[in-house]
Amino acid sequence: MKKICVIGAGASGMVAAISAARSGASVALYEKNAAVGRKILQTGNGKCNFTNEDMDTAYFRSSTESTLIKSVLSRFDEKDTINFFENLGIKKRVRNGGLYPYSETAVSIVDALSFELERLGVKIIFECPKIYIKKKGDGYDVSGTYYDAVIVATGGKTVPKSGSTGDGYWFAENFGLKVVKPLPALTQIKSSQKWFKDVAGVRVEAELSLYIDGSFVHKSHGELQLTDYGISGICTFEISGLVSRATDNGQKCRVEINLLPECTFKEALSMLEKRREIFAERSVGEMFTGLFNKKLSDMLIKEAGIKPQKKAGSLDDKELKKLAHISTQLIVEADGVNDFAKAQVTSGGVSLDELTEDMEAKKARGLFFVGEVVDVDGICGGYNLQWAWATGYLAGKAASID
Ligand SMILES: Cc1cc2nc3c(=O)[nH]c(=O)nc-3n(C[C@H](O)[C@H](O)[C@H](O)COP(=O)(O)OP(=O)(O)OC[C@H]3O[C@@H](n4cnc5c(N)ncnc54)[C@H](O)[C@@H]3O)c2cc1C
Repeated sequence: MKKICVIGAGASGMVAAISAARSGASVALYEKNAAVGRKILQTGNGKCNFTNEDMDTAYFRSSTESTLIKSVLSRFDEKDTINFFENLGIKKRVRNGGLYPYSETAVSIVDALSFELERLGVKIIFECPKIYIKKKGDGYDVSGTYYDAVIVATGGKTVPKSGSTGDGYWFAENFGLKVVKPLPALTQIKSSQKWFKDVAGVRVEAELSLYIDGSFVHKSHGELQLTDYGISGICTFEISGLVSRATDNGQKCRVEINLLPECTFKEALSMLEKRREIFAERSVGEMFTGLFNKKLSDMLIKEAGIKPQKKAGSLDDKELKKLAHISTQLIVEADGVNDFAKAQVTSGGVSLDELTEDMEAKKARGLFFVGEVVDVDGICGGYNLQWAWATGYLAGKAASID
């Protein structure tokens, strides 16, 4: 019987331990916290969006072009995740393609995994002291105990309070593996533009276009939240990893916001032309009533350099063009993103070049890396947990094979 050590009892580690134990291994699971799955409890606003019906490699990013993501997701896809949890008693609830436990609480996911670990006799070492891993014979010495294989499931660096403080990178580097600089992703984008203070708290449906060093890179849609330090909301999160990496590289990031996402500039202009005519006697500010939140239109008018008291009917074509322009291409110069404490996932980590399709280090056979510690991050919607379950499951199985 193979002896396997899993480090980290988060999403990927618990599934790795279950998978290894189901494959007949004797498994020890080391966790620095006093409980398992602390971060899972925070996911999906406490409801845990554990996978998504719409699964595609396009929703995942890595610094390395590799077939590994595709290979992992084809061998353990969203249906496998649903089955895996159904077998543990988790009835699914589907919301806009996102899968949640029917109970609508992440506690159910953690409990279901804990019951299975117990059933399989996985030994959990809570509040473990700082661990070391050394090569020993065909296997590894983990803080004085011999194991045939080790699965590192220590997570990334996001929300360090949950226990994920980036220890896995250190383990990888000690074995000579390349680690892509970890940076915060799925988080807010910061900007020092002064007008943010005037629109803090406004939420608006928008389309964001990201430009890095002047070149278009990515578009996202959804509810945008304006804050006093920049932008937030799921559409912001979607581009935040790219902004994080680019600003860290010293590149310039510009986000263009279309506040009328169903309109092109031309369509917005013709709508404003009609409003100028119909509401000629109203002020420019009042001309926007019913189109934008007042805080937002006041800011747009100010930034367009137009006096808000001016009569709409007296706006000339140049001024109207400026208003249409700023409404469809409001420019945000991004300074960077919020830090790891506020981010949902880590971009970067153990390079895919270093790993086999079963997540085993090519340079250190028997040593596996799973979940967020690996240089793969997904967008919001259950993709990061899908990556954690899938890599954990495949590595647990592979590590147990003689
Ligand atoms: C607020 C928030 C909401 C999120 N919502 C979603 C969502 O709805 N859907 C989704 O798919 N993803 C979501 N995510 C992302 C998702 O939670 C993570 O990608 C996922 O938990 C990563 O799993 P993991 O096993 O790699 O790491 P983690 O779940 O972070 O687990 C790592 C574990 O390892 C332990 N550990 C670390 N170092 C050591 C060590 N040296 N010794 C022993 N133990 C150690 C930690 O204490 C921790 O328990 C969210 C993240 C956050 C922060």
